[in-house]
Amino acid sequence: MLAAFIHGIRHVQVAHKNDPLHAPEKVLIRVGGVDVRDSDRHYYLEGGIDSVIIREPFVPGSEFAGWVAGDHPTLDLTRNQLVGVDRAQPCADCEWCRCDHVDLCPQVIFLGASPQDGVMTATVAVRAEQIFPVRESFDVARAVMLEPLGVAIQAPDLIRPQLGDTIIVLGCGLDQASLALELQSTCADAAIKRLILPKGDALPAH
Ligand SMILES: [Zn+2]
Repeated sequence: MLAAFIHGIRHVQVAHKNDPLHAPEKVLIRVGGVDVRDSDRHYYLEGGIDSVIIREPFVPGSEFAGWVAGDHPTLDLTRNQLVGVDRAQPCADCEWCRCDHVDLCPQVIFLGASPQDGVMTATVAVRAEQIFPVRESFDVARAVMLEPLGVAIQAPDLIRPQLGDTIIVLGCGLDQASLALELQSTCADAAIKRLILPKGDALPAH
């Protein structure tokens, strides 16, 4: 199959990548769509993120949706079913995973975090726990946006904005833009003053 490999700063090549190995605990997903998150931008423009430098050709991409490649009746998944996929793959064996706090797993693997290859390729193998079936009314683009939407929903719960608070959302990636819009929709008095775009352009947003 083909995949997009980042070799270094502004150096991307589409090349052959071996198909994922068959493993009984994994489900093959045909990649339908991938968003470009800030980490992908850093890998492309700067060849890495802080101390994580790309030393081998690396497949970027982490937030994605796709179609189940085969029937899995025990998992209630059917061939060609559209699903969103969590890029985080906890170890399933540490003390945190065993008590269902997989978000604290110290051995978690993130797809698309160098050197772990990401999903800008044709097919990816993931664990069943990473898979989230979506409604039939969803299309691929909506399913890809599930993770930024999750951030936007979770963040206000954590910060618990009070009446009169001023909230600054730093950055303008998918997560931040989704959060700003969520705050505006859930806080009746909220108004987004400006959206600052990556090149420094500013748009009024009301
Ligand atoms: Zn773990």
